[in-house]
Amino acid sequence: MGQKDELKWLKLLTPEQYRICRCGETETPFTGKYYHHFKAGVYQCACCHAPLFDSETKYDSSSGWPSFYAPISDEAIKGMPDKTAGMLRIEVRCKKCDAHLGHVFEDGPEPTGLRFCINSAALEFTSKPTH
Ligand SMILES: [Zn+2]
Repeated sequence: MGQKDELKWLKLLTPEQYRICRCGETETPFTGKYYHHFKAGVYQCACCHAPLFDSETKYDSSSGWPSFYAPISDEAIKGMPDKTAGMLRIEVRCKKCDAHLGHVFEDGPEPTGLRFCINSAALEFTSKPTH
């Protein structure tokens, strides 16, 4: 990431969003604004507003972070190996802007068996349009 990008994100994001999305930190569990949020809509990237997760795949994993069993599309996110916590985890990033979102684990519900454990601060919710 170039210095110009760095300044852009500092301006656009809150300090918490910057620490999480651009520096890979994790928000305190049970504190995020979307943990107990179950409205119908789409969760976008807080940085670039790309759609990342649909509310239909959100579930309560009791982990303290918003959890989804699938991304909105395979094109929305990318996984990167992360060994920082002394174990191998798969980090989840926004494919478009490279923002750190959270991690993916293999203990999720059907049909995917995956748990995307995502920081609220990395997300921005928009309601589904009502027709
Ligand atoms: Zn993004």
